[in-house]
Amino acid sequence: MRLHINDVAVRDGFQMEKSFVPTATKISLIDELSRTGLARIEVTSFVSAKAVPAMADANEVLAGITRVPGVVYVALVPNLRGVQNAAAAAKRPDELNGVVSASETHNRANINRTHEQSLAELPAMVRAAHEAGMRLTMSLSTTFGCPFEGRVEEAVVLRFVEAFRAAGVDGISLADTTGMANPRQVEELTAHVLDRFPTKDDTYYTLHFHNTRGMGLANVIAGIEAGVRSFDGSVAGLGGCPFAPGATGNICTEDMVNMLADMGYDTGVDLDRLIAAARRVPGIVGHDTPGQVAKSGKSLALHPLPASLQAGA
Ligand code: ZN
Repeated sequence: MRLHINDVAVRDGFQMEKSFVPTATKISLIDELSRTGLARIEVTSFVSAKAVPAMADANEVLAGITRVPGVVYVALVPNLRGVQNAAAAAKRPDELNGVVSASETHNRANINRTHEQSLAELPAMVRAAHEAGMRLTMSLSTTFGCPFEGRVEEAVVLRFVEAFRAAGVDGISLADTTGMANPRQVEELTAHVLDRFPTKDDTYYTLHFHNTRGMGLANVIAGIEAGVRSFDGSVAGLGGCPFAPGATGNICTEDMVNMLADMGYDTGVDLDRLIAAARRVPGIVGHDTPGQVAKSGKSLALHPLPASLQAGA
């Protein structure tokens, strides 16, 4: 079974770092990730440089990367102005990812809008993106729980999916922004979404998990069981959310790919190359990172025999 793996570290991860990651470093990491077989790479966002200084170099990053055919380069946009700024870039992203939170409180904290304001602007965002030759997908943050409001009603999630589709978006990401999802909930909720709003496009629905409570990879399996084929991760497990208390990293891309490869899934990703990229990340951010496979090696990375078992010993 073919799965599609996306990496969001350069956006979701670097925006959480206290020190600014130099533009050239971002570009070289993106270029390295581009050669691993990932389906999509989220490379930057078009947001207010005052609110998110880490992404102030969006234009430079997009202009500086070497694009590999077949890889979709994505930028996050919080609103119509973000779409317009992306359209004005010398080198546009292939795809924009808009964001709205299923929880109204988180939506206001994250993008300072009510649900009504977010949805009212969506058709104009889709139009502006398409006119500039870019796809537009929508992420539904806090799909599986909100740190301020708790569980989100399934009916609310379904209403958003319906509204996104009515607006003509090119894909939908269900995001567990603060790591509150559990596998049973993921399987049930995503199965209901796919049931009500089926698609033949394997990359239309994406699941985006954070590993805040250690359930991230289990949630991926639950998502596969429910029929989802596209998953976000973050190389080295970087990430978080500046507007959600205690939100730690995304699930780690190379840990996910290692697990899926072991289980016999085709991810299209060269795990050795991905691990090599992940091993650069602690040096870039100046601290240890949560990913495990970059430290342990992949499951079948065999070790030399202990001296006592070696011939002649
Ligand atoms: Zn995230």
